[in-house]
Amino acid sequence: MTDSKKWVFGFEEGDGKNKKLLGGKGANLCEMTRIGLNVPPGFVISTEACLAYLDDPQRALPPGVWEQTQAAMAAVEKKSGKGFGSASEPLLVSVRSGSAMSMPGMMDTILNLGLNSTTLQGVIKATGDDARFGYDAYRRFIQLFGKVALGVPDELFDREFEQVKHAAHAKQDVDLTAKDLQDISERFLKVVEKHTGRPFPEDPYQQLEIAIKAVFNSWGGKRAVDYRRQFNITPDMANGTAVNVVAMVFGNRGDDSGTGVGFTRNPGTGENKLYGEYLTNAQGEDVVAGIRTPKALDQMDAEMPQMAKELAELRSKLETHYCEVQDFEFTIERGQLFCLQTRNGKMNAQAMVRTSVEMVQEKLITKEQALLRIDPISLEQMLFPRLDPSVKVKPVAKGLPASPGAAAGIAVFDADRAEHLGRDMGQKVILVREETKPEDIHGFFASQGILTSRGGKTSHAAVVARGMGKPCVAGAEGISVDVNRREAIVGENRFKEGDMITIDGSSGAVYLGEIPTVEPDFTPELSTLLGWADEVARLKVMANADTPDDARRSLKYGAVGIGLARTERMFNDTARLPIVIEMILAETPEARQAALDKLLPLQRADFRQLFEVMAPHPVTIRLLDPPIHEFLPDAHQLEKELGELRVLAQSAHGMTALAGTLNLLNVGEQARRDFDVVRRAIDPMLVEEAITKKETMLKKVRALYETNPMLGHRGVRLGITFPEIYQMQIRAILEAAADCAKAGIKIKPQIKVPQVCTAEELRKVKEFVDTIHTQVAAQYGQPVSFKFGTMIEVVRACMRAESLAEEAEFFSFGTNDLTQATFSFSREDAENKFLPLYNQSNILQDNPFEVLDVKGVGKLMKLAVEWGRSVKPDLHVGICGEHGGHPASIAFCDEAGLDYVSCSGPRVPVARLAAAQAALKQRGRKE
Ligand code: PEP
Ligand code: MG
Repeated sequence: MTDSKKWVFGFEEGDGKNKKLLGGKGANLCEMTRIGLNVPPGFVISTEACLAYLDDPQRALPPGVWEQTQAAMAAVEKKSGKGFGSASEPLLVSVRSGSAMSMPGMMDTILNLGLNSTTLQGVIKATGDDARFGYDAYRRFIQLFGKVALGVPDELFDREFEQVKHAAHAKQDVDLTAKDLQDISERFLKVVEKHTGRPFPEDPYQQLEIAIKAVFNSWGGKRAVDYRRQFNITPDMANGTAVNVVAMVFGNRGDDSGTGVGFTRNPGTGENKLYGEYLTNAQGEDVVAGIRTPKALDQMDAEMPQMAKELAELRSKLETHYCEVQDFEFTIERGQLFCLQTRNGKMNAQAMVRTSVEMVQEKLITKEQALLRIDPISLEQMLFPRLDPSVKVKPVAKGLPASPGAAAGIAVFDADRAEHLGRDMGQKVILVREETKPEDIHGFFASQGILTSRGGKTSHAAVVARGMGKPCVAGAEGISVDVNRREAIVGENRFKEGDMITIDGSSGAVYLGEIPTVEPDFTPELSTLLGWADEVARLKVMANADTPDDARRSLKYGAVGIGLARTERMFNDTARLPIVIEMILAETPEARQAALDKLLPLQRADFRQLFEVMAPHPVTIRLLDPPIHEFLPDAHQLEKELGELRVLAQSAHGMTALAGTLNLLNVGEQARRDFDVVRRAIDPMLVEEAITKKETMLKKVRALYETNPMLGHRGVRLGITFPEIYQMQIRAILEAAADCAKAGIKIKPQIKVPQVCTAEELRKVKEFVDTIHTQVAAQYGQPVSFKFGTMIEVVRACMRAESLAEEAEFFSFGTNDLTQATFSFSREDAENKFLPLYNQSNILQDNPFEVLDVKGVGKLMKLAVEWGRSVKPDLHVGICGEHGGHPASIAFCDEAGLDYVSCSGPRVPVARLAAAQAALKQRGRKE
């Protein structure tokens, strides 16, 4: 290293792209200066200087750094027309850190460096004898410099401050006079002297040198080291911090001065119009402190026309250079407009979409850039009601954000009541359960949203709610639900049936009372953007939909087919459940067949409707999957009811006995008749009958009980042990397809088999399919074309992909179960038991039920795709687990060569954008 090494870069000299050398902030200031924005003069001391300084055990500035700093200061003095240490026109500077990666909180900013007893008078004069402003700035500077650069604890300053405030009877800081602040400044100087053993440095250059070293030292400080460790910032990402020294400009130098913040377009709506606010004769702090109400930038035209014109020019320069909406800060000092900072503006989804589309139309950006600048997940904001962001209320509980959107309604604790109050009485209800079961489905239909105290993001409640597009908070373990008392206890609060609550399925928050919501907005710009997405995406996006309504909504959102129709959902209707129970309770094949015969026409109608809605797109129907006991009532509940019935039976028998003795008594005719009415109301025969029914049910429920139902008698295992069930479903599908074909409706039916682990299972089901197909073809006088495939959701299915591919025309990865099987994590329990801790302590970075585990589950998927296609090169492969709607997982599916993703309807727009981004990134990598 020689003295001639360049350590210090004036803003006009620095390479605006070289963040490693100049830090993010420094590079940005250089870039702003170089594109002709009026940035206050300043310079950057490089990160290399920091590293060389920290390398030196003496902690001296590396040779050349100080000389170059002094030269740079001289240049700043020249440009600003002010002098560092000058009593008449003092130059003050800010000193801040800035590494290649943003590390907020690593080091405070020192403002107004250069203030001392001499320059202070100059500042007071420059601000029209505003002594209060001068002393306020001075006491802040002493405290900040004292703390950051000299290590004086804040409490020592705070104590003095409070004493003066108390003596002055000031309630707030703004009540302090110039004299009070002068007193505080003097006390602060003494604090520093006492703590450091030296007077507060008066010489501005000495202040500057101490500040530079303090910034450098902060890089090796505990706070910064911890931060880098926490966020995995490695030396190749950021090494050392730069120091930015910038001339202070003052917006409080009279009515031709001011300060403000602006957005080049409206961040709330995306409207192509300057947006923001300003204050005349004020410093930035005044805007933040809210002492004076800022004015909208619209008004500047009338008040400061020249400045308004310059601001419009600034806006257009910013956008043409950055090609992004900018969020910028400015200060006007005596009629001169300075841009202090600019960065990409944070906007809501609606504004992101609108600005993207309009900026393409204005030829500021390309379609590809428009597609890449939006976070796909944010599109959900445009599809669901949100809590009104202006209402600030604390939630009483937090669960998992299981299905997005916000909803308010009265709490109701069982599905029947929800149906009664919601559907029949027209009230807005939130169904609150410990967890939900398929038999609760009618309650879902009648509710605005669902809240459960147990279960994860792939629990029944979550998946069903997502499919329906209803908000759901799942696994809110802080809530204890008492169905019998119709109330829930949340810490010290409780809510009863009929009490208003609000849930936010996008954040998992639960609130007492009603919080207003903002309605969603599927705008024309969103349609345009998603149209562009479809042009570049390779992956097709299908929907998981079980009902015609779901299907219609999915179409509206742009799905090109149904990738998963879960047929068990079709059995959850209140009218059908008794038939399903009849089928399950049947003791003989004939009795079972009789129940199935009733279900056949219903299922045929279901499928026909789905085919009609989706024509000509494919509809993939999955044969029955869950364990059948899920359709039956809970054993504990049955036992309880049985106990109650037995008590009732005893009373009924007692009554009958009493009736026998009544004749002997001297009881009047009327009394006898009245008694008879009561006695008949609890007819022992009827009670006995009810008991027998319940006992049979309980016996069946117990017989069907499994310790691990998720790994039990479900999916194809069920289809093989009760072939009549699958046969009925297959017949219903093929007959519905034949019906449609006859009616000239172009359809593409697909049948898939769940939980398959061996090709033999598939062959068995295929035999049913072939036989029934032949029968249906004969019956309808024409064959039906369809595809037959398998879900891949157990590990063995991945391992046996070659042999499965011989039977299947398509694979559909059920990654909910595949994740469960790969990790041996229960999908019902993991998310609110140990996964949060696993995530917090970085044992696992993500929740694998939400973000596809590429390293484990993904590896299995890749193998299965490769092996499957080695047998059948045109094997069609997709995913229909919840990951099919998650952007990073979609990117993986693209890379792994899948043909489609299938997700819940409202995730379809998210998936379309994510698929486009995945394709663009793949293309970028290849190029
Ligand atoms: C899956 O396991 O990923 C799947 C789609 O099936 P289900 O969630 O219905 O078990
Ligand atoms: Mg599954």
